Amino acid sequence: MIPFNKPYKSGKEIEYIVDAIEQQKISGNGIYTKKCHKFLEEKFGFKKALLTSSCTDALEMCALLLDLNPGDEIIAPSYTFVSTVNAFILRGAKIVFADSEPRHPNIDASKIESLITPRTKGIVVVHYAGNACEMDSIMQIAAKHNIKVVEDAAQAIDSYYKGRPLGTIGELSAFSFHETKNIISGEGGMLGVNSAEFLSRSEIIWEKGTNRGAFFRGEIDKYSWVDVGSSFLPSDMIAAYLYAQLENMRNIQDRRIAIWDRYHAYLQNISKEKGFELPVIPEYATNNAHMYYLICKDLEERTALITHLKKNEINAVFHYISLHNSPYYIHKHDGRELPNSDRFTDCLVRLPLYYQLSDSDVDLISECIIQFYSGR
Ligand SMILES: *Cc1c(COP(=O)(O)O)cnc(C)c1O
Repeated sequence: MIPFNKPYKSGKEIEYIVDAIEQQKISGNGIYTKKCHKFLEEKFGFKKALLTSSCTDALEMCALLLDLNPGDEIIAPSYTFVSTVNAFILRGAKIVFADSEPRHPNIDASKIESLITPRTKGIVVVHYAGNACEMDSIMQIAAKHNIKVVEDAAQAIDSYYKGRPLGTIGELSAFSFHETKNIISGEGGMLGVNSAEFLSRSEIIWEKGTNRGAFFRGEIDKYSWVDVGSSFLPSDMIAAYLYAQLENMRNIQDRRIAIWDRYHAYLQNISKEKGFELPVIPEYATNNAHMYYLICKDLEERTALITHLKKNEINAVFHYISLHNSPYYIHKHDGRELPNSDRFTDCLVRLPLYYQLSDSDVDLISECIIQFYSGR
């Protein structure tokens, strides 16, 4: 069976984990955590990077930083992972779901402004498949209405909008290093802070509500409980694994992009002939090859394709199910139809894409798709 995903070990992961253990500081914020922070801040230009134990945790930090009150509203796409919105639900916010663009799962920027009310506190955008949302429009709308933008950049490491790294455009951002992402540490994440107003408070929340960070830097002579907070730090052994991956980022991204391009070239003709869609990268966005997907004509076609691939020992998988229709939210949603989100729910299928996937496997998978469509 060709799996959908395989975690990749790039070389020095074990060496660095052993080193972290030998340094005798394996809790959070150790040597490797600091190395990762420095690397990420220098490479991408966050004002502050803070490792977390998941992207879910980083999103929960964003929700705490926005200081939400019950009944405050957050605008988010419906076609996303639950963590994008759960973080804000946990703070009592109401989620106002927006539809996707017609040809891309990203939030449709032109649909956002009509959803803003006096209670709107934030817009959470998700850069689906690592392709940028239309950030200029979104930032303009947010500035006009004085609301914050959080980027769920879980899939978007080393990807860009008009040359700007994703995750550095909104006031706050959240990244994932889960084993299914491009750069991994098993479980893992990062909060990106871009706005000076959140600098000191993000560190306090990360330090469980204390000003211990300032104390460790010698800025104050004792530390105290000054705010809410929780335990968001990963162990330094996790950061050690991550640091080895960050050092190899170029190599990892290049291989993924080569695989993506190979699928894309192979499937051009058949997609035009048979009327299914391939990924469209907006002209303002780069492709970090987080994902290669097809958009089938309908649910029946997708189910048959997944079944056909499985029979041929290939594991292709569908993705999100519109959150506005989920059992938890359907009765809280205001009833608006979100047809694009529902179309991706029914029609999108993701193909295997991981560093170790060989060119011959990409060809085999592509051939199998061509064979499926030739019979229809
Ligand atoms: C993977 C993912 C998450 C969650 O990441 P974790 O690190 O597993 O918490 C959140 N949002 C999106 C868009 C994701 O793809």
